Amino acid sequence: MLSTQIIFAAIHSKLVEFNANFFLQIFNTFVLFSFLTWKLFKPVSKVLEDRKNKIKNQFDSAEEKVQEANALYESYKEKLDGIKSERDEIIKEAVELHHEGNLGHENTSRYNVYATFAGVSSKSILFNGHIDTMPPGELSHWRTKPHDPIIANGRLYGLGSADMKAGLLSGILAVKLFKDAGIPLPVTVKIASVADEEGGGNGSVVATMNGQKADGVIVCEPTNGELVLANMAFVFFKVTVLGSSCHSGAKWLGVNAIEKAIFLMSAIEELEHRWLLTKKHPLLPPPSQNFGVIEGGSAGSTVPDHCCFKTCVHYLPNQMNYEEVVREYTECINTRANGDSWLRENPPQIEIYQTGGGFEIDREERLPSAMSAAWKHTTGNVMPVVGSPSGCDCRLWANIANCPVIQTGPGELKDCHTPNESVSVSQFYQYIEAFAELILSW
Ligand SMILES: [Zn+2]
Repeated sequence: MLSTQIIFAAIHSKLVEFNANFFLQIFNTFVLFSFLTWKLFKPVSKVLEDRKNKIKNQFDSAEEKVQEANALYESYKEKLDGIKSERDEIIKEAVELHHEGNLGHENTSRYNVYATFAGVSSKSILFNGHIDTMPPGELSHWRTKPHDPIIANGRLYGLGSADMKAGLLSGILAVKLFKDAGIPLPVTVKIASVADEEGGGNGSVVATMNGQKADGVIVCEPTNGELVLANMAFVFFKVTVLGSSCHSGAKWLGVNAIEKAIFLMSAIEELEHRWLLTKKHPLLPPPSQNFGVIEGGSAGSTVPDHCCFKTCVHYLPNQMNYEEVVREYTECINTRANGDSWLRENPPQIEIYQTGGGFEIDREERLPSAMSAAWKHTTGNVMPVVGSPSGCDCRLWANIANCPVIQTGPGELKDCHTPNESVSVSQFYQYIEAFAELILSW
């Protein structure tokens, strides 16, 4: 039997054979995924000009694939239309069971695509990525067209390049490495391309609620060679406070709703201080809350009869939980309100309008250990272990599908959700190779 090194050397030699044409292969794969899920991807790779004819053939076959996908879409249209109402039901169930999912978020014509590549062993590993992006924003801030990716200075520029086409394709192309090298996959590899992450994670909510799972899940969001083993959970609250309006010249005849809201907000700040003093995590910042919106009043000369504020509470996984955070937050407001004669009679209304869990995995578990070893083997570097203050789909694979989960992928957070988004091509290659190594050792 071939040793791991020999098998990997064979795969590696295939990787070295990759040339500029490689990006067209990506394109072909991607067009199929894009077509069924999100916008069409129109590559113009200036670096490939010397191979015009070959490119043309590739583009023609890509065009054919688009037509094939189009026909497939048409034949499935009726079925796909039915999926929308099914999706809404699933998301509703996820909200009730797991406090996850963004009900009512527009998802027409956006579908998940799953692939399973059977391996010698039925042991499985799943690569997850989202193909929706944030809007490109102000186009004049882009040096290139956001939807026409180009390669320059060793980087691929384009909307969604780092967040996170490169990550998703690293998983897909790791499988292709095995196929090209003629080596059977040692384990079953699954791909879950989801169509909605940026809007609250409905794509992975539907995937996990529909039973997608594996013995290990890698969410390939950009981490720039770091290994994310934890991220924060969150709850968004909206608090509405009523007052009694009158002319500001006779303010004492009314009740100022904005001042009452500030009175309640100071209680929440005290709660935040208590959390800061008592909750600590080795990889994550302390829990916090942010007053993100405050609305109320109509004129300087009117005592406002209405004020609402919105806060986002970020809290630690495992040490804190959703029920406890909601209880503490609600008790904090109600206790302060009880000390005020007006608010006691006119209690503030507290609503929760979006939530998401956190996730955490021990670095000694098999998946993080295997990924660290694969990265060390591929790059010679240690993969630093970190926590992430921002959330992603990891929580859904951990909390709904109950899978071991890690987050790692090509690209940097600073290049996401910003004009001139880009990803390092060499790091993209590194990830393909590292994921192939992970598959080999899984
Ligand atoms: Zn992302």
